[in-house]
Amino acid sequence: MQAPFPPNLSAFPHSPYASELQRGAVNRSFSGGFEAEYLRGQLLGNRKLIRVTCVLAVMLAAVRGLEQLLTDGWPIGNLILVAVVLVASAALAAIAWSRSFERVYLPVAQIVVPARNMLAAFSVAGSTALGQPEVLMILPLMVLGPFFFMGLSFRVALTSVVLTLAAFVAGAVWFGLAAPVTVRSSMLLAMSAAACAIAARHLERWSRTSFLESHLIAELAEHDALTGLKNRRVFDDQLVRLWQKAIDEERTLAVVLIDVDQFKAYNDVYGHQAGDQALRRVAQALRSLVARPHDVLARYGGEEFVVILYDLDARRAEALAERMRVAVAELGIEHRATPSGSITISAGVAVVEPSRERRSRGALQLADQALYEAKLQGRNRVEIMDQDAYSVLVTGVFADGR
Ligand code: GH3
Ligand code: MG
Ligand code: MG
Repeated sequence: MQAPFPPNLSAFPHSPYASELQRGAVNRSFSGGFEAEYLRGQLLGNRKLIRVTCVLAVMLAAVRGLEQLLTDGWPIGNLILVAVVLVASAALAAIAWSRSFERVYLPVAQIVVPARNMLAAFSVAGSTALGQPEVLMILPLMVLGPFFFMGLSFRVALTSVVLTLAAFVAGAVWFGLAAPVTVRSSMLLAMSAAACAIAARHLERWSRTSFLESHLIAELAEHDALTGLKNRRVFDDQLVRLWQKAIDEERTLAVVLIDVDQFKAYNDVYGHQAGDQALRRVAQALRSLVARPHDVLARYGGEEFVVILYDLDARRAEALAERMRVAVAELGIEHRATPSGSITISAGVAVVEPSRERRSRGALQLADQALYEAKLQGRNRVEIMDQDAYSVLVTGVFADGR
């Protein structure tokens, strides 16, 4: 049997998509901005279908109108009804093809589709009473359309179909349609409406689930499972992107490489699970200090973290790294094997002015060199390498796979 996805939602405490799935949001509306994002995606995805359906509705109404015009003795009232249906369908088609589709279509369709279908159903009852029973075959279209073709939400589609059924019954009474015909057609219409409602509900739940799951997959591919921070792959991409941005905008770039001190000993003394928990807490402390939109904090690997700070001068970058060091020390996570008695970090800061001649990797190597220096100087400290050191750095010197 195929394993269910996602396997265990509580394993992703950082993911808003996982928590939406967990609280069963696929059965109702999503919270926050997700609902608007989902509806927008649905609407744009359904646009072609909506366009085709709108054009077919215009054609159907036009053919019905023409047929009645050419038939002698047709009541003017029914002709007016068909004309109104034609205009409403044409208006929807115009919106479906217009530039303001995304903004205007749903609010208008929510009102126009039920109203138009009610008039059409009323008119169908009239035509049937006047000796055209084959027109009843149009009714199923008024059930299928709102549920599957018009891009409406389940609730609006259901309302539209119920009102359509009511309008048909009202029309049948108004035009004096024979009672057995009225009852049989209404029953059949109600049954097909119920079947469509079940299918549409199932379809909506499926599409809401796949919306959350596809976002969750994308999110998992970008985040580290243990700490919830961005992973190495995202960091590599962001470094290249920010490097180019800094060249274009002539800004500085600071890279801070952080390494937990004597962490192997921590694992040895307290166990691997305690080590994992400590890494989570360190990540949390770092996260609280990296808040600007262009800055990136990632788990670089093992017990190492990395930060990219955009457009921050050497003094400020060093001060921020120092705040991180203090924040981790203040967590007070006991580590008997270190001089301070608690978990600490060392940080290497590289502040560079990116240029087309150098590669972003150089900034990372410089930060690595600074970190190495911090470790040499006794750990639990911050070391900085600035532009002068950068100019003498030979790219490729630190070829240890980092
Ligand atoms: P230094 O101060 O020089 O950095 O010493 P260190 O012991 O931290 O350095 P070393 O690179 O020798 O050891 C890193 C340790 O981090 C080894 C590994 O067991 C541990 N580690 C790496 N990733 C994880 C993880 O995800 N969970 C746990 N619990 N430990 C990890
Ligand atoms: Mg290390
Ligand atoms: Mg270490």
